[in-house]
Amino acid sequence: MNVLRALNKYFPTKHEVETPDKVITISSPTVVKHDIHVVFNKNTQSFEGIPPAWKKYIENTIGKDEVQNNPEAVFSAVMFWNASIFKQKDEPKFNSSPPAQAVLQVDTQSNEGGSNFEEAHPLKRAEDVKKSTEQDQPADPIYLNIPGLVNNHDERPEVENGHSPVQMRRKADHTLSDEEVMAEFRRICSPRNPEMIYERDMELGAGASGTVFIAREKATGCKVAVKDIDLAKQPKKELILNEIHVMKDLQHENLVNFLDVFLLNNHLWVVMELLDGGPLTDVVTETLMKEPQIAAVCHHTLRAIDYLHDNGVIHRDIKSDNVLLGKDGSIKLTDFGFCANITGDEKRQTMVGTPYWMAPEVVNRKHYGKKVDIWSLGIMAIEMVEGEPPYLKESPLRALYLIALNGRPNIPSWNKLSPDFQDFLTCCLEVNVEKRASAKELLAHPFLTIAVSTKTLKPHIEAAQKILEKRISMVS
Ligand code: ATP
Ligand code: MG
Repeated sequence: MNVLRALNKYFPTKHEVETPDKVITISSPTVVKHDIHVVFNKNTQSFEGIPPAWKKYIENTIGKDEVQNNPEAVFSAVMFWNASIFKQKDEPKFNSSPPAQAVLQVDTQSNEGGSNFEEAHPLKRAEDVKKSTEQDQPADPIYLNIPGLVNNHDERPEVENGHSPVQMRRKADHTLSDEEVMAEFRRICSPRNPEMIYERDMELGAGASGTVFIAREKATGCKVAVKDIDLAKQPKKELILNEIHVMKDLQHENLVNFLDVFLLNNHLWVVMELLDGGPLTDVVTETLMKEPQIAAVCHHTLRAIDYLHDNGVIHRDIKSDNVLLGKDGSIKLTDFGFCANITGDEKRQTMVGTPYWMAPEVVNRKHYGKKVDIWSLGIMAIEMVEGEPPYLKESPLRALYLIALNGRPNIPSWNKLSPDFQDFLTCCLEVNVEKRASAKELLAHPFLTIAVSTKTLKPHIEAAQKILEKRISMVS
């Protein structure tokens, strides 16, 4: 009897329900989600169930005939591109806001390999990548967003919030809370006020995570580069923390070395060596380099890559923009991340690592490792010959498709290159990862024996800076 009475409070009587002020009203839907299930049918080599508007978008971007003739390459490109957009969900990219969200679920069981797309970050511990790619991935749905057709934010299923009475086990690799991250920043940062130590000078440029400016150390007069990161604007503070830990650990003459880090009014000041020659991109786009100079740049970059690989780190964003030059002849690899994946519509900017330098195994979402840096080095060598990487004039989606389709790109000046250089490029741009050379093997390649002093690049740097009117040239 008592039990019935207890239950009664959960089941209102007919009278209670019919009382007008207790009528339950049903609101209009608030978060409408339209799941569309698309299957890539291997037998018919076609997508089944794809909405016509999306099909049209893909056909317009990649080409109708090519979509029909090379569906597997299209599939790789679209899936990769889609995953990259999702990794940027903290940064609004496409702002159309239709009333309902459309989500495409692609049945990946018909596609070998599954999704092993890593946290989009140019620098990652090799062991981590290996570990996560080795695990069998469940056939998670892949959510496809087409610009202009859907609003791609926040539609991923959220994990239940903290109101549950169930106490969850705390895992060792849990995500740090903002307070924990800030506490860690305070722990690793130098306790002094950087403005007492450095005098702020001209700005060099702004990237995804902040601005870089030149500063002069008051005590010595030495110039340094400082990356100013406004932590209030960083959705992924933990990644920045990781990067600083990694940068502190790694020091090499061909890396832009970390010098110090400070916390000032919620801004991080990351102090680095200053490279007064600007990025290699300026030299390759504005001047013609000779083979011995290209060999020298490859040699120094390879030394940095080899050092990173020996320390279990894959850079994942090797390109001319990330090789900085000093007028004294120094050549140093930079950009250990700082959420370089966040922004980017421009081709040379990062869309989760810019697609043009990506190895086929990355685009095809196969297992990948250190050798991705070797492929990208080969693409960077093409930049030094041609002035730009293959497919730069194409949209990122079509570039991804062409990488998936063609593998090794065509090099217009191929016949003008020396046999040793041709062989070096062949070793870098080998589609078969097993056969692709390692950094150590390439360091012994005959092409590098023709390398000249990197000081010969000084006139190139100055000519490029003059054309580009770069203010850094005023720094001596
Ligand atoms: P991303 O956010 O993808 O890294 P980015 O490289 O343009 O984009 P930053 O890394 O913030 O952005 O760099 C801004 C500018 O400062 C770039 O032009 C870069 O070449 C320059 N720069 C960065 N570090 C140094 C340095 N140590 N010495 C000289 N110039 C630097
Ligand atoms: Mg950068």
